[in-house]
Amino acid sequence: MEYSVARRRMVEYQLVGRGINDKRVLEVMGRVPRHLFIEEELRDKAYGDYPLPIGENQTISQPYMVAVMTELLELKGDESVLEIGTGSGYQAAVLSELVEKVYTIERIESLAIKARDLLKYLGYRNIVTRVSDGTCGWKEMSPFDGIIVAAGAPGIPQTLVEQLKIGGRIVIPVGGDFSQTLLKGIRTEKGIKTEDITGCVFVKLIGEYGWRER
Ligand code: SAH
Repeated sequence: MEYSVARRRMVEYQLVGRGINDKRVLEVMGRVPRHLFIEEELRDKAYGDYPLPIGENQTISQPYMVAVMTELLELKGDESVLEIGTGSGYQAAVLSELVEKVYTIERIESLAIKARDLLKYLGYRNIVTRVSDGTCGWKEMSPFDGIIVAAGAPGIPQTLVEQLKIGGRIVIPVGGDFSQTLLKGIRTEKGIKTEDITGCVFVKLIGEYGWRER
């Protein structure tokens, strides 16, 4: 099947069919070439309804989860957003077309380099990548309008809350090793107001304010 056909079906069945209705999110996910963020051997599965391995024991998130997380940020176009867990770079590419500036942090250097090169090759110019522990955030570039954490955390790192604008949003899976709850948090004057969104399964957020490396 042609990738563009598979991509259209993904948007229709997996996203629209399950209640994603932010027009801009649907439009962008109907355009970003997800298959290019996946190893050649797995490309025919690129638009399937599941996460896929990207090496280093990490995964590219399921399309639906990328859509949910992105929609929850309620982006208008002029935002500055931080992503923790660049992985393949796919989520960063989706964000790139929806906001002014994307900052993305990955702790595994080989993944970060691959993503950076691909994003550059594909012409995304408003994404800045970095290799470091994302649980510490990116203070110099803060405050952010939104933060997406693409790995499961034991709790919401206070460091990240502090790097959000008042009224800014964070979307983060919080819970145990094998399953988490996706939380949406809104930064208030006093701290953060959170809401449970859905159950989910992410790889671990490993770092100073995440899980400890084994
Ligand atoms: N957004 C990615 C999904 C990546 S999976 C995509 O679209 O492909 C989660 C990623 O988070 C993994 O690559 C993992 O290495 C990374 N990660 C885990 N802990 C991290 C941390 N403390 N800082 C930065 N990246 C981290």
